[in-house]
Amino acid sequence: MGRQTGYSKLTCDRCGRTAFLQSGNADAQSWYDVNHLTSTSAASAQPPSTYTLCGDCYKAFQSFAATADAEFEKWVKDADREEQS
Ligand SMILES: [Zn+2]
Repeated sequence: MGRQTGYSKLTCDRCGRTAFLQSGNADAQSWYDVNHLTSTSAASAQPPSTYTLCGDCYKAFQSFAATADAEFEKWVKDADREEQS
């Protein structure tokens, strides 16, 4: 097979790992595009930033994001406990 087409080059935006994968390949399904809103973009019309993550970094992201989600939920519900200044 001299020439094969339909490959994507994936680069992890966190660890820099790269892979050439054909769409639909099982390995391609372990890569994820994750949208992230910063504190600035969350209150504006700016679109979220998209990061491509390899499987390992996606697992790390899930753990990180679960912690961040819990902190946000706690912060939202904690207004009464904040000191009034
Ligand atoms: Zn990675």
